[in-house]
Amino acid sequence: MRWNRMNPFGSYKKVVSARSTLKEVLKKAQDGGIVSTAFIYGLENNLLDGVIVADNAGEFKAVPKVATTPEEVLEAAGTKYTVCPNISVLKSAVREYGCEKIGVVGTPCQVRAVRKLMKYPVGFRHVPDKIALIIGIFCMENFPYYGLKLIVEEHCGVKMEDVVKMDIGKGKFWVYTRWGETKAIKLKETHPYEQIACHVCTDYTAELADISTGSVGSPDGWSTVFIRTAKGEEIFNKMVEDGYLEVKPIEEVKPGLGLVEKLALQKKEKNMKEIEHRKELGLPIPY
Ligand SMILES: Cc1cc2nc3c(=O)[nH]c(=O)nc-3n(C[C@H](O)[C@H](O)[C@H](O)COP(=O)(O)OP(=O)(O)OC[C@H]3O[C@@H](n4cnc5c(N)ncnc54)[C@H](O)[C@@H]3O)c2cc1C
Ligand code: SF4
Repeated sequence: MRWNRMNPFGSYKKVVSARSTLKEVLKKAQDGGIVSTAFIYGLENNLLDGVIVADNAGEFKAVPKVATTPEEVLEAAGTKYTVCPNISVLKSAVREYGCEKIGVVGTPCQVRAVRKLMKYPVGFRHVPDKIALIIGIFCMENFPYYGLKLIVEEHCGVKMEDVVKMDIGKGKFWVYTRWGETKAIKLKETHPYEQIACHVCTDYTAELADISTGSVGSPDGWSTVFIRTAKGEEIFNKMVEDGYLEVKPIEEVKPGLGLVEKLALQKKEKNMKEIEHRKELGLPIPY
């Protein structure tokens, strides 16, 4: 397929709706637990010996971590709606942890960074051939930590220390507290706190990953999964065969792929306009 920026999803072999069969993953995961299950499966079956995840350092402050055990993968499950520089520990996974088969999870921009360093490994000697699996998570926008704190504390009226989960869906930003309360505000109110660089980003579904996953398109507790590369297909099929994942055809679930397409195109169109606008002003652009 020829590359075309306005193609909604990039190239892929198959797209399905799926969820983990591991109870401990489903308890902690953001959606269907695809990322954590793939990493646990990879570590348990010697396909991976280290994975890069975003840990919660308390109050949803996200820090990158090299996890080498299923327990460490589980600790880092769940979405932190803030910037987490996962790629900053990639070199240390190789040089300090001695990993030979690394799994990486990241937002679409981070997946792009990994593919770029695999092609042009400036400053990344001995790293590209150690990358065994790249999992991308869908991403519409992200927030600097201070912005996230303002959304939660000022707009939702919840203290960061009381939050157990955050979620974006159905046009709202949701906050769940340890007291069992749920607060939500319209997504429109969170726009001023977005990270500025996200406004020139035109990748919604992590198009360069081996496997991409997100919540949009599938019912609550399930994930939409794009299987993109031969490597991604191999590990995904093995997980299904070994009973780690339940899978349904995407055509059988609601709202289905149509909504993912709509959102992907919305992001591309909006941010392409911003890129054009910045060009006119002579500002730096990403392409
Ligand atoms: C900023 C952001 C915006 C998102 N926007 C959308 C969206 O618009 N639509 C949609 O469908 N999905 C979106 N997602 C993805 C979604 O929230 C879930 O991460 C995804 O569905 C995976 O869920 P899971 O149950 O398979 O993963 P889990 O098993 O819960 O694992 C999630 C993995 O992601 C890692 N992670 C968590 N936060 C970050 C972070 N900030 N940066 C890098 N890695 C992280 C965790 O360490 C963990 O390994 C977004 C995620 C982020 C971080
Ligand atoms: S919107 Fe783009 S640049 Fe911003 S965090 Fe998501 S993938 Fe990265």
